[in-house]
Amino acid sequence: MAPSDALDWTTFRNTVDGKLENTKESRHSINPATGKPGPEVPISSREDVDRACDAGAAAFKKWSQVPWAERRKAIEAYVNALEAEKDGFIQLLTQEQGKPLQFARVELDMSIQWMRSLAALEIPEESYPEDNKDVIVRYTPLGVAVGIVPWNYPILLAAAKIVPCLLTGNTMIVKPSPFTPAGDLKLVELAQRFFPPGVLQCLSGDDNLGPWLTAHPVPAKISFTGSTFTGKKVMESASKTLKRVTLELGGNDPALIFEDVDIDDVAQKVATFSFLNSGQICLALKRIFVQESIADKFLQALVKATEQLKVGPGDQPDVFLGPIQNSMQYERVKGFFSDIEKENWKVAAGGTNPSGPGYFITPTIIDRPADTSRIVTEEPFGPIIPFLTFSSEEDAVAKANDTKMGLGASVWSKDVKRANRVAKQIEAGTVWVNTHFELDPRVSFSGHKESGIGSEWGVGGLKSYCNAQALFLGKE
Ligand code: NAD
Repeated sequence: MAPSDALDWTTFRNTVDGKLENTKESRHSINPATGKPGPEVPISSREDVDRACDAGAAAFKKWSQVPWAERRKAIEAYVNALEAEKDGFIQLLTQEQGKPLQFARVELDMSIQWMRSLAALEIPEESYPEDNKDVIVRYTPLGVAVGIVPWNYPILLAAAKIVPCLLTGNTMIVKPSPFTPAGDLKLVELAQRFFPPGVLQCLSGDDNLGPWLTAHPVPAKISFTGSTFTGKKVMESASKTLKRVTLELGGNDPALIFEDVDIDDVAQKVATFSFLNSGQICLALKRIFVQESIADKFLQALVKATEQLKVGPGDQPDVFLGPIQNSMQYERVKGFFSDIEKENWKVAAGGTNPSGPGYFITPTIIDRPADTSRIVTEEPFGPIIPFLTFSSEEDAVAKANDTKMGLGASVWSKDVKRANRVAKQIEAGTVWVNTHFELDPRVSFSGHKESGIGSEWGVGGLKSYCNAQALFLGKE
């Protein structure tokens, strides 16, 4: 295929050993704004998995020997091609995933930024020279990695696995979510112009595919992003062959809002970080804790900011919340709405939802439910949040940490010294002061507690695709 050829957006096929392939059976996902079928995509068989694993292993032998600078050059050319195809990916992302066009654009822009920034990284060799020997620690690639991707940021989360994996000399099989396969199939199809066959492959399939890949003897590493529930299954399956795992899992991020904040400004930001992507972000704010003395005023401002957020199909102007991505998740989020009556929750905003055909949910705030209620202890992964309070700094820290999750958190106060002090006491992989969800591809991203194992991005993320090797070499 000539590099100038534009992608065709009508057919979606697996990529195995550099070739585009259909499978005997196919399936389709659903456009969550309309309920209409998405494009037909492959259902991979066990035999497809075997062939992709073999091709990945064969490609690894040569790709791992290609110099770092050349691998980087191939990645850079790939990113340039993605940038040229950006508009097609944005349209498809809104149709397939449901997010508003403006945020589909943000996802593509972030993907491109992440890929360029990750490709610029190096892993420095550690050197401990002695009189009679040279002691070196270097990082060598693992082999075939499997990248398992969720449906909330299908392009960004795949792109941010692909680059560290390929840059460090590994090969990868991407496994998209069955809810959002089409974009990832195209992302990998596009890559074939820049990498040898077998270096980057993509298999789409049904619920059998993930377990087949994690149990297969060939892959050396599973890089998984998804729920904590599935992450545990992945780890269990990978343990049989001691595959390395990186697990980026669920979150239950708290915001701790102290009494000295600018209420309108912070309420606006909290509404944004709670309801962005319709709350379907691992790092969305999921527990809002406000100091008791400003609770009523803050709630009023938060309700006002929330009620201004428009819900609707992602291709309509000014929409902030698109539909929930799929029927399973829609039913799960609606489960929290049925708890409103059962648990006698007080609703401060939202509380009722429009009827179909799309999976739309009104952004909803529950006013001071019990600390032990499901809306506080679980991750709804949808636009419904609990509004809670704290009395003192110690109380804030205790409540923030009273969870099995530990992905992100933010502390909001004009007293930056206090905010920093509190931030350092939070048990989470990423903690912000006076903002939230500001990410940086140069910085390791990880979950504490049941939010994950290992880290992605940054030099730590590159090392997660490598073995450390200590060499005690003779002095030359
Ligand atoms: P999920 O766990 O249902 O699925 C994630 C991926 O795993 C999909 O590709 C799915 O097909 C695959 N899968 C399912 N069962 C499998 C199995 N037994 N073996 C191997 N693979 C399997 O998650 P989801 O619903 O797609 O995503 C939402 C969840 O992901 C939320 O909990 C969210 O917090 C989390 N998430 C975490 C991060 C992070 O970086 N920490 C980012 C985004 C989403």
